[in-house]
Amino acid sequence: MGYAEVSVNSPVAQRRTFSYAIPLGLSVDVGQAVLVPFGDKLLQGIILELSRYPSVEETREIVGVIEPRPLLSPARVSLARWISEYYLSPLFDAVALMLPPGFERKALTLISIPSIPDGYDLSSLTTEQRHALELVRRQGKVSLKELEKTLGKEKAQRIVSQLVKQGLAIRSYELEPVRARPKLAPYLSVAVDASEALEEASRLRRKGGSRQAALLDFLVQQSGPVSLAEVRQRAKCNKTVVDALAGKGLIRVQHIEVRRDPLSYLGIAPSYPLTLTAAQESAFRSISESLAQKPKEHPDVFLLHGVTGSGKTEIYLQALAEAVKLGKRGIVLVPEIALTPQTIERFASRFPYKVAVLHSKLSLGEQFDEWRRIRDGEFDVVIGSRSAIFAPQPDLGLIVIDEEHEWAYKQDTSPRYHARDVAIKLAQLSGAVVILGSATPDVETFYHAQRGGYHLLELPERVTPGKGASLPRVEVVDLRQELKAGNRSLFSRSLSQAMTKAIASREQVILFLNRRGTASFVQCRSCGFVLRCRRCDVALTHHFVEDVLVCHQCGYRMSVPQICPQCLSRRIKFLGTGTQKLEQEAGYAFPRARLLRWDSDVTKRRYSHEEILGKFRSHQADILIGTQMIAKGLDLPLVTLVGVISADTSMNLPDFRAGERTFQLLSQVAGRAGRGVLGGQVIIQTYSPEHYAIQAASKHDYTLFYNKEIAYRRQLHNPPFTQLACLVYSHTNDALCQREAERLKRQLIEERDSKGIADLSLIGPAPAFIHRLRGRFRWQLILRGSELSAFLGRCLFPRAGQWTLTLWDWFRGLFINLTSFNFCLVTLSPLSPSP
Ligand code: ADP
Ligand code: ZN
Ligand code: ZN
Repeated sequence: MGYAEVSVNSPVAQRRTFSYAIPLGLSVDVGQAVLVPFGDKLLQGIILELSRYPSVEETREIVGVIEPRPLLSPARVSLARWISEYYLSPLFDAVALMLPPGFERKALTLISIPSIPDGYDLSSLTTEQRHALELVRRQGKVSLKELEKTLGKEKAQRIVSQLVKQGLAIRSYELEPVRARPKLAPYLSVAVDASEALEEASRLRRKGGSRQAALLDFLVQQSGPVSLAEVRQRAKCNKTVVDALAGKGLIRVQHIEVRRDPLSYLGIAPSYPLTLTAAQESAFRSISESLAQKPKEHPDVFLLHGVTGSGKTEIYLQALAEAVKLGKRGIVLVPEIALTPQTIERFASRFPYKVAVLHSKLSLGEQFDEWRRIRDGEFDVVIGSRSAIFAPQPDLGLIVIDEEHEWAYKQDTSPRYHARDVAIKLAQLSGAVVILGSATPDVETFYHAQRGGYHLLELPERVTPGKGASLPRVEVVDLRQELKAGNRSLFSRSLSQAMTKAIASREQVILFLNRRGTASFVQCRSCGFVLRCRRCDVALTHHFVEDVLVCHQCGYRMSVPQICPQCLSRRIKFLGTGTQKLEQEAGYAFPRARLLRWDSDVTKRRYSHEEILGKFRSHQADILIGTQMIAKGLDLPLVTLVGVISADTSMNLPDFRAGERTFQLLSQVAGRAGRGVLGGQVIIQTYSPEHYAIQAASKHDYTLFYNKEIAYRRQLHNPPFTQLACLVYSHTNDALCQREAERLKRQLIEERDSKGIADLSLIGPAPAFIHRLRGRFRWQLILRGSELSAFLGRCLFPRAGQWTLTLWDWFRGLFINLTSFNFCLVTLSPLSPSP
């Protein structure tokens, strides 16, 4: 007899598998979905391993298989195990990432009645018991849930237990109904042979049944079954006519699976590979050589560094074509926001009918259909947002991650993961090659590329010849000078003039505001000075209610000074602006201009991105106002001016990556201007024009930025020179929350000291950046050191049911899930290039 190690769909299972015996005659495989008994329930499970011996003495048997074919390939089984270990997430949560959409189902408890023994005296039962028995008997089989609805939860459970004990009722289990099924549609065909059908048709016509006759004639001419929808349209007939013919046995109605195709709304013309430029050619050659090689122990990871318009996408397309030539397939990840019809079309036109699209806004049915067709090997390329890395793409040869620095690649809910690191692990497990593409690579990624962990490929210039090919001119406006000159509006004199000019020439303007972090730091309105923590060098956060400044890294607090420590001005308290306010002010300042606002508040609906974009593209508005969303992936030829209202907001986030974030945002925003023949201009408004992130962005100089940034990171002992983890606790009681955080700190210190780990320090506890969220207070503790994942994985955390999982938004990097302890979240930044 064989055994299987099964990952079970139960919160109790946590990070382990369970041994089950494989009953004789049942053949199962790794990756297969099965039903297993677990406690008194029947649950879904996935087989992760087959073995000759069980890991425990007593095992129960697998009840049956759910799907005849394995759902996970062996590489993905290993990937799920890795995710669970590395991010400390429950194993089944990791497995579930790779299952078909809608797969996860709960088991229902059903109650039925066996044949009651002759002469059993039902009068010995209580009225309640008899009532319940009657309810079950009337329907034959009833779900426990239904009984609970009628009798109340506790009572129903108690009575059922009593009845089961007396042999009067039986419990059985079934999985709840499937949510996503293949979509079936009725198809019509002739059920008799053609000559007979034609005879019938003329007979019908004589008897006045001309519509039935017409349908028969139509169907005889078709080479195969035709969908009812099409028949209705082309043969102009209705359901009654169809039913009448079917009733006479003349036509057949079959239900055939149809595909719900998210690509169908695009009319796509095929495109052909372009002749590569010299820089593209050399990058492409390195990648194609790697594709042709045998898989290595550490996968080849290429960092393709090039500004927007330097031809990165063309390289992705040709590298994918190369992989296809070698009999392999690819996965392409783009940030959700970049998953526009424009992007999809570029891939779909190069690989007609061979591109699958996956993203969270597809309906469950669409996702399910795509998943199955991907598994069946119907696509050369799968394109999608971060979860597309889990698509069951067979023969994986190439993974492309566009805009690899994007924060959207990190998943914020359990199981937390970073798609880039998952991709590199998957590449290692499946022998694939990885391309990371970016105009502004993540500092850590670039560091690994510099040190040889990744292969660095540079595309130094834009491809398009002629006007508009060069990067836009960037002007940095010092807002302190504006104040000195008496200008208090949101628009500097420079920006104001440029806007007037652009609108008058019927060109378009984008105004960019980084709303995140607005009103959280305190800045001197005269000199731009921002109060920072002396120990951590992060901006102090202003707490509105208590009116104090707090360091969200180490907990340092101070009151808000009355005068600026730098210039002695009294106008020290300056809090930021939101998009709505900006829209208002722009309305006053430019009354003739047509405004359009684009931020997450207005784009919650499925197609609203496209709608807003479409409106702007067709020049139904002159000024587009938005947050970081507008920074990405737009190609708008009429935009000649981009104004950054305040570059300082992102710079003052309490995060060691604030400088990097600012540089990335500004570079992206700047890339929006001058995409067309009209050329373009960017105006950045700031109180700190001398800041290196702003300087570097205004010169389009990544190297300048990187060298400064990496020096600071080294000096302050921040990633990539160490790992950082952040634990966040939340509770409705602030004091208790703080106490628990302190208790955990003591415990971690004990743990560290007992293990003799030298390279591990704890910072905090401190109030989290968002101290109070949905009525809960949050405190955080930062860990700094190496191999934090392994350390935390071994620690035994206190169990505390009242803690909830909270999100820490500002750190990008790896995440660890401590859901098993149900109270905290850890973020962790990576140390090594190959996790
Ligand atoms: P990126 O992905 O770096 O923004 P793209 O691949 O989108 O760059 O290229 C920018 C523009 O240049 C696109 O319109 C693309 O069609 C064009 N392009 C790219 N490579 C070439 C080439 N080798 N020859 C001509 N045009 C090219
Ligand atoms: Zn000042
Ligand atoms: Zn501090």
